[in-house]
Amino acid sequence: MQFIDLQAQYRHLQARIDGRIAKVLAHGHYILGPEVAELEDQLAEYVGVKHCVTCANGTDALQLALMALGIGPGDAVFCPTFTFFATAEVVPLVGASPVFVDVDPQSYNICPADLRARIAATIKTGKLTPKAIIAVDLFGQPADYAQLSAIAEEFGLLLIEDSAQGFGGSLDGKRAGSFGHVATTSFFPAKPLGCYGDGGALFTDRDDLAELLRSLRLHGKGQHKYDNVRIGLNSRLDTLQAAILLEKLAAFPAELTRRNQVADAYHRAAEGKFGLPLVAPQFTSSWAQYCLLSEDRTAVMERLKQAGIPTAIYYQTCMHQQSVFKAGIGEDEHFPVAERLAGQIFSLPMHGYMSNEELQQITAAISA
Ligand SMILES: *Cc1c(COP(=O)(O)O)cnc(C)c1O
Repeated sequence: MQFIDLQAQYRHLQARIDGRIAKVLAHGHYILGPEVAELEDQLAEYVGVKHCVTCANGTDALQLALMALGIGPGDAVFCPTFTFFATAEVVPLVGASPVFVDVDPQSYNICPADLRARIAATIKTGKLTPKAIIAVDLFGQPADYAQLSAIAEEFGLLLIEDSAQGFGGSLDGKRAGSFGHVATTSFFPAKPLGCYGDGGALFTDRDDLAELLRSLRLHGKGQHKYDNVRIGLNSRLDTLQAAILLEKLAAFPAELTRRNQVADAYHRAAEGKFGLPLVAPQFTSSWAQYCLLSEDRTAVMERLKQAGIPTAIYYQTCMHQQSVFKAGIGEDEHFPVAERLAGQIFSLPMHGYMSNEELQQITAAISA
């Protein structure tokens, strides 16, 4: 059994994906070929925003967002401490400073009350200018954008949605990728919508921001490729990856349905035995990960391994505990929810092609 069975997905889509790849090899436009624009149109439509700008990976997408929004030295960027490293990594890359925020015990997403407290503390200390929030749609569930938008407006902050894991989730009928001033996602193979290598994208309704992002991803181009008007990156999505993603996007709604069936079955089997991931009524999740909590995590994971079921831990280490960041954390800064999650969380296999037999094997093992 695979933790994420990409081979099962390929077997299902093989003829279509192979056909798309062959077309790219035949036309030869490997960089920013027609499939890239076709994919950007389809992704923008799926998410429900005006513009999608693809790029090389989800980390670059975040960095490009910060660059486009003019975030730099002296700026405080608030982000959850319980996330993948890239969310925080991009902040010092543009010269700004991350300020870590604890997460909500139900959704595991950035806690609005703690965010307010950290903004107030940053203003009081006076060393940094509060500038932006990067909210993460952790494990597939969008963050609480109703509350986050209100806080961003109140304090004049920019809001960035890191939807590397959230693509396919929704809040009040609006899809992940449509929240904040700009949103980002990743097409790393293990994400809900993944390609066969690295890939990423940004989403925005703002025309000026989309144009700036298109310049920044291509060496700061102006009127044409060899007219450089600003400092940018080389960060494009390969045409081959766009071609693969076009076929995967077509299959994505059915995969999302299956992922939710798997999550429902896990939920029933684990109820009363483990801490469960809770999706609030107005939210849906794309289940990038299905995670349980146990005070006895090591023993549970070993028992599942004996039953032939692979598991993984996302994440053992919070951002405020990472060696590169911990020196900057004050003695009076505490993150009790994130630290408890890091000590108890583990993930079960999750993908859109899980067979009934596999699902039954897993639910039997977790309810045993
Ligand atoms: C995967 C991930 C990223 C980075 O995406 P890459 O494509 O691997 O660069 C950023 N943020 C979160 C929350 C992620 O899970």
